[in-house]
Amino acid sequence: MKPLLLFFTITFSVVFLSTCTMEIPPRTEFVLGTVCTVNLYEKGTEAIYTEIFARLHALESILSANDDESNIGKINASAGIASVEAKQETITVLQEAIKYATASNGAFDPTIGPLVKAWNIGTDYAAVPSKNSIQKALSLIGYQNVKITGNLIYLPKKGMKLDFGGIAKGYAADEIVKILVSHKIHKAIIDLGGNIYALGEKAPGKSWSIGIRNPEKIDGESILNLPIKNLSIVTSGIYERFFEQDGKRYHHILDTKTGYPVENELLSVTIFSANSMQADALSTTVFVLGPVLGLQFVDGLKNVEALFINKNHEIQITSGLRGLIKITDPTYKIITQ
Ligand code: FAD
Ligand code: MG
Repeated sequence: MKPLLLFFTITFSVVFLSTCTMEIPPRTEFVLGTVCTVNLYEKGTEAIYTEIFARLHALESILSANDDESNIGKINASAGIASVEAKQETITVLQEAIKYATASNGAFDPTIGPLVKAWNIGTDYAAVPSKNSIQKALSLIGYQNVKITGNLIYLPKKGMKLDFGGIAKGYAADEIVKILVSHKIHKAIIDLGGNIYALGEKAPGKSWSIGIRNPEKIDGESILNLPIKNLSIVTSGIYERFFEQDGKRYHHILDTKTGYPVENELLSVTIFSANSMQADALSTTVFVLGPVLGLQFVDGLKNVEALFINKNHEIQITSGLRGLIKITDPTYKIITQ
């Protein structure tokens, strides 16, 4: 090869390589009723980001309880009238939700829709409902009544409604992981409105450092951090969606027995699992169950860790998290179980 030609070949290769490894910034879009950000680091391409967000928008158009045209919207509108052909995504999430509903004896219940609508938390119309409307909503809740026959779903009582707000963001995160694996991408941070998936590790042998937010402050700083890799981290807390009326705070995690927001000692529950749908369903379930029953519930599960923060600024953790947590806000302390 002549020296000049060799020079151009090398120059081209270097430019090409550096173009290949140049990071495309993370992408953020409003979808699933929240702000979703995906960061693929040096493997990010416009085409892959577009594929991911197209999937998220498609999932919203199937699973949203706020859209009359979604699969869930149609199933809900046909309650007490007819069964509706369900998409595979709807059946997958519903079956998983029913698993947690059964295991928690209805503390988590995907038929919570009428109660969610009665409270309207997260909308401009949020207000404490009348006792009557709470009783009416409670009478419609019951995961045991949902009929799944093949790909048909039937809600037998008029007014019954499915709501996957406590589980579907986790499912969506797992679906993104599938897309990434199909592209051989093994390093990413997926953040679906606080439903996090930290895929792979930050660098070879180096974990991601994940912070847990101050549960008493919206957009608060983190109070602790811990190293993790290849895990989903999902938090349910009283600070995420709430409104105030007559000086009292009403948050969005609802008690299927009383019909009111869950009242216990907890500020937040964080679940760690390689399966994000499981982490999402569990964070809500365990929050409803409360500190004692909730901890017993997760202690019995394999490959799941949990972190509870209560109103006395005490942190309880499952055994797999011992020694990993670095507290950054000294008003919080880890107590033994
Ligand atoms: P989690 O603790 O994971 O879940 C709390 C949510 O679960 C509640 O908001 C309620 O929906 C449900 N829930 C409450 N109590 C229980 C219980 N006991 N058992 C079972 N479930 C319970 N928000 C909007 O404002 N507008 C939208 O158009 C909109 N569309 C959405 C579409 C999809 C497909 C999804 C998944 C979510 C959508 N959201 C929308 C957001 C949704 O309403 C919730 O606010 C959000 O999912 C709560 O997630 P979280 O992680 O904060 O809390
Ligand atoms: Mg949840």
